[in-house]
Amino acid sequence: MSKKERIKFLDLSRQYKTIKKEIDGAVGRVLDGGNFIGGSEVENFEKEVAQFCRSKYAVSLNSGTDALYLSLKAVGVRTGDEVITTPFTFFATAEAIANTGAKPIFVDIKEDSFNINPDLLEKSITKKTKVILPVHIFGQVADMEPIMKTAKKYNIKVIEDAAQSFGAEYKKKKSGAIGDIGCFSFFPSKNLGAYGDGGMVLTNDRKTAVTINLLKNHGSSKNDKYKNLILGTNSRLDTIQATILKIKLKHINKWNKTRIKIAQYYNKHLSGVAGLTTPSTNNHVFHQYTIRLHSEEARNGLRKYLQKVGIPTMIYYALPLHLQLAFRYFGNKTGDFPEAEKAAKEVLSLPIYPELKRVEMDYIIRNVKKIL
Ligand SMILES: *Cc1c(COP(=O)(O)O)cnc(C)c1O
Repeated sequence: MSKKERIKFLDLSRQYKTIKKEIDGAVGRVLDGGNFIGGSEVENFEKEVAQFCRSKYAVSLNSGTDALYLSLKAVGVRTGDEVITTPFTFFATAEAIANTGAKPIFVDIKEDSFNINPDLLEKSITKKTKVILPVHIFGQVADMEPIMKTAKKYNIKVIEDAAQSFGAEYKKKKSGAIGDIGCFSFFPSKNLGAYGDGGMVLTNDRKTAVTINLLKNHGSSKNDKYKNLILGTNSRLDTIQATILKIKLKHINKWNKTRIKIAQYYNKHLSGVAGLTTPSTNNHVFHQYTIRLHSEEARNGLRKYLQKVGIPTMIYYALPLHLQLAFRYFGNKTGDFPEAEKAAKEVLSLPIYPELKRVEMDYIIRNVKKIL
């Protein structure tokens, strides 16, 4: 590897090349058929994901954001309610909560996993709490056992944000199939990514599945499209995306295994390096490989150096959600969630995707070690 052969943080074209024939053929058949919304491709994809995750129902949607929003609507979350979640996640998690009129109640994260700390849940529960919404950040499943236990004790629903963890397992269950509802995103960069937007919810509850099916299609009756039973929206997964995802689903186990192998390779070579903490591999499918430095200066210094030698990195997430301007009306302030704020200063995500080459990994490892 020379400095000129720039590594990409994520190169989706490499994966496309490996499945081009299958994809092009299937997309061509949809184009020839002339049906672009709904149909058996969409229904079959839903069935296959439900089977893969060992869940009773799967409802495909237009995005992961809609999966969260419509799930919250389906369990009746509305103005005046509270929903507990983590401040260390992508904006959409808390945005979906706020868009229902409910208030996101943040609970700090654990230092080692970046996931919500179950020990802090109970003291945040009030009479208004309707849902606990843990996020499986970077592809590692949150500690669901104590979360489910606390939720049960207070009769609160659990909605998983499994946008980053498709295929991950926790105590023999698939992420997204542990809580009352699980939400996936098929945004192109996700482990199971479409070539456009897409999302899905999983549930074992028939009523919830029926409600979300209504909500995603203007509340229109199955028997008569122009009879609208409730207010909904348009959040359908289109036929071309479902077709593409159905093909990619066949490869997801192999791709996730490769991600884990890459993470293990990084860990093997970086775990002894002073000033750096590597991630644990428990219940993880490595949507992101995120290391932690011991100070903001060290993190920024490493990032700058890597950039100079042609290695792109990302900071997920530089600003915890309680400090986002969009949520300022909730009155949170710096210092409220110290672990999330500390993580925001110290994390750095290195390139990881199934098609990342060994020479590229070695080049990244060599340069991380060089500067530290
Ligand atoms: C990607 C993502 C979402 C949103 O999914 P979209 O499909 O982009 O709407 C929500 N939560 C998390 C944690 C995500 O990573």
